[in-house]
Amino acid sequence: MAQASEIRSALTGFPGEVRQEVPLAPMTHVRIGGPAAFLLAPKTAQGVCQAVELARSLAVPLQVIGGGSNLLVGDAGVSGLTLSLANLNRVTRDGERITAEAGASLPALIRSTKDLGLAGLELLIGIPAQVGGAVAMNAGTRDTDTFTHLHSLKVVDEHGVLQELERDAMRPRYRDGGLGASIVVEATFALTPDDPRAIFDRLETSLKRRNATQPVSERSVGCVFRNPDGVAAAQLIEEAGCKMLSRGAVRVSGKHANYFINEGGGTAQDFLGLMREVQARVVERFRVELVPEVEIWGV
Ligand SMILES: Cc1cc2nc3c(=O)[nH]c(=O)nc-3n(C[C@H](O)[C@H](O)[C@H](O)COP(=O)(O)OP(=O)(O)OC[C@H]3O[C@@H](n4cnc5c(N)ncnc54)[C@H](O)[C@@H]3O)c2cc1C
Repeated sequence: MAQASEIRSALTGFPGEVRQEVPLAPMTHVRIGGPAAFLLAPKTAQGVCQAVELARSLAVPLQVIGGGSNLLVGDAGVSGLTLSLANLNRVTRDGERITAEAGASLPALIRSTKDLGLAGLELLIGIPAQVGGAVAMNAGTRDTDTFTHLHSLKVVDEHGVLQELERDAMRPRYRDGGLGASIVVEATFALTPDDPRAIFDRLETSLKRRNATQPVSERSVGCVFRNPDGVAAAQLIEEAGCKMLSRGAVRVSGKHANYFINEGGGTAQDFLGLMREVQARVVERFRVELVPEVEIWGV
């Protein structure tokens, strides 16, 4: 693998910010994890292509951080190049179609489409993602998911080539956009005109339900495990007696057992240890293997 000095010199003239040894914990919702060896924040889609080409030529890993709401970063951090698309955050409108760059905030996008009287995205309110992360994970709720409203995407593929994808060519799954190593740089949503008040009411109802059932204001990664077929992971975790179980400063939420809370100063080691313990208890009780939904880096 290339040395830091070699990477530094290859990054000379990169079109965007380049920083070294950047703590990732503040960029994640759960506030856990070590630094990124190199953090790149390109200002254009072309910069994303360049980052992919650089990672290939240097033979170093490349990972993309969005809103950091579904990420657990290891305590030692991550090597190679970490890409933030936060500078790519423009949103434009063409009739009933809204195009958002990947670094745009999903909650802000939802609120602006509500104001425009365009319905579709409001039931995704409360998901603290960037648009790119929501597409990559096909973020959703029991009512809808991101791909339901998607018209087309612009992605940078693993060769560093910018491509346009139509919705019909995509194969999203449960909590997985099915895009492989491609990086989302822009998403166009096809929405439906509706009364802003009606959209607002649905949005508020959805937020109220979320606030009542999930520890939204605490430090978490959202749901830690995927729901196995036909049953909620939270129910299995609770019935296996894991509610309020803890490791160091990380504990299973008392409000929603598929959320683990960092109470302050929690480490990835604590978090992973708690995941293993919960998985073991659920296997012992139900013979069901819980599969992580959280993306885990650098461990
Ligand atoms: C309080 C809370 C509530 C949540 N509620 C829900 C919910 O109801 N439903 C749900 O589905 N999820 C939920 N989540 C999880 C999380 O918000 C989603 O998985 C979301 O899609 C992650 O988006 P992000 O931008 O934060 O991505 P990150 O967490 O930064 O990254 C997640 C993955 O997406 C990849 N990624 C990010 N951006 C891009 C990009 N531009 N191109 C390609 N890959 C990219 C990353 O490399 C990583 O693999 C919740 C999380 C929290 C903390």
